[in-house]
This record gives sequence, C-alpha cells and structure tokens, in this order.
Amino acid sequence: MHNRDAVFLEDLCPKLRVRRWRKSLHNYTAQSCIYCGKPSESIDHILPRSRGGLSITQNCVPACLSCNGHKSDADAFEWYRRQRFYDPRRAMAIRAWMDGDLRLALRLLQWTQTNHREAPVISQDEEWMPQLA
Ligand SMILES: [Zn+2]
Repeated sequence: MHNRDAVFLEDLCPKLRVRRWRKSLHNYTAQSCIYCGKPSESIDHILPRSRGGLSITQNCVPACLSCNGHKSDADAFEWYRRQRFYDPRRAMAIRAWMDGDLRLALRLLQWTQTNHREAPVISQDEEWMPQLA
C-alpha cells in the first residue's frame, strides 16, 4: 500500500489513527512501562486529563496497569519519586519525552537497561569517589 493511501485511510477513520498512535508509543519503549520497566499495558497521561493534560505524544507514555492505576491523578514526578523502583534516568527520560525529544528519552531508557542491579543509583555513591593514587 502506498504511504499516501495509509494517510488517507486514517483520515477516514480517526479510530484507526488513534490505535496506530498508541501502538507507536508502546513500540518506542519496546512495550515496557516508562516508570518501572514492566510490560506496558496502557497509556498514561503524565499530566492527568483531569488537570487539562492533552492526549498528545508529549503527554502520553506507555505504562503498566499498576503504575497507571497507582499514579491516578497525582503529579507524575512527585508520585514517581516515592516509588521503590524510582530511577533518576527514567525520570530524565520522562522529562525528555515531555519536551518532545523522544530520541533522548529512548537513549535514557536504554541506559536503564544496562544496569540490572536492583539497588537505586543513589546508593552507588562509591563509584563517584575519586580514585586514590
Ligand atoms: Zn509500571
């Protein structure tokens, strides 16, 4: 099918466009929750719709049902900081996502994949200590 035909089809059927858009969001994070890394089963509004958050890519992130449900209408960053799985790299990724810099967001998310330790980054201060000669 020609590219222009696809666009034309989406214009005819907005539901199809929304479904494709949601799928593309999940694809960005390889079907993982942007907050905790578990499989993403839903789309979370970073700024909740109840507070005027828009259904646009910059405000919509893949999230598992658990995170989406627990976060509810709380401020995303305040809520996220309180979670045991809080990862500052993911928080930075969410900021980049909100800024519309998906490439930076994805790089930050990939960075989290390289660290399989359960301990939060904050407890690894010793890595930042200067080496004594
Ligand atoms: Zn999650």
